[in-house]
Amino acid sequence: MNKSDIVLFGAPASGKGSLAKLLVKNDTDFVHLSTGEKFREHIGNKTELGLEIIDVMNSGELVNDELTIAVVEDFIESYKNKRIIFDGFPRSSEQLIWLMNYIYDTDRQQLAAISLTTDDSILFERIAKRRKSEDREEDNDTVFKKRLVDYKKYQQPLVEDFMYYNDSALTIEIDANEPDINKVFRNTRHVLDAYDKEF
Ligand code: AMP
Repeated sequence: MNKSDIVLFGAPASGKGSLAKLLVKNDTDFVHLSTGEKFREHIGNKTELGLEIIDVMNSGELVNDELTIAVVEDFIESYKNKRIIFDGFPRSSEQLIWLMNYIYDTDRQQLAAISLTTDDSILFERIAKRRKSEDREEDNDTVFKKRLVDYKKYQQPLVEDFMYYNDSALTIEIDANEPDINKVFRNTRHVLDAYDKEF
């Protein structure tokens, strides 16, 4: 494997999950790790971890770094020969620093980042639709507002931190206000293709 893993940054409902799924469908080298999905699976299966995190998840708070990193490490270990798309991770400085150290200390290659940019008004419209179709507890209005505020306060600055610590790494900004996710995918793929050719 000689191509980078990818961190997807973006507000809740910016389309990170949908974009990751399209990237995986288009290229079997990729595998998608959504920490949110992993946690929801644990809750659904009523595992020990699921029972431990259910209240935190439903309140819109972050699961603690230690539990989150354990889930991510497990995943990375089982996909040694794939390019991982990290969706919803890292979400704290501790997680970011852990990930960079982990990637560079192992024989994985590089980390690139894709940052999805969106307007709040678009996110609120999307979340109203998702609430109807997916019945996700953490999508109620109050919880979503809190998640958005927290995102801006704690996670958005991680994009700058990522660029600071990885000055040689690619960081792609993609306009994700575009309602057609296939177009967002094509724009992303286009930049990644140019980047992958260089490595
Ligand atoms: P998501 O589906 O990515 O929006 O995540 C849903 C919920 O899962 C979040 O609100 C957090 O409670 C939890 N979660 C997901 N990823 C992380 C992470 N990297 N660190 C801490 N908590 C997370």
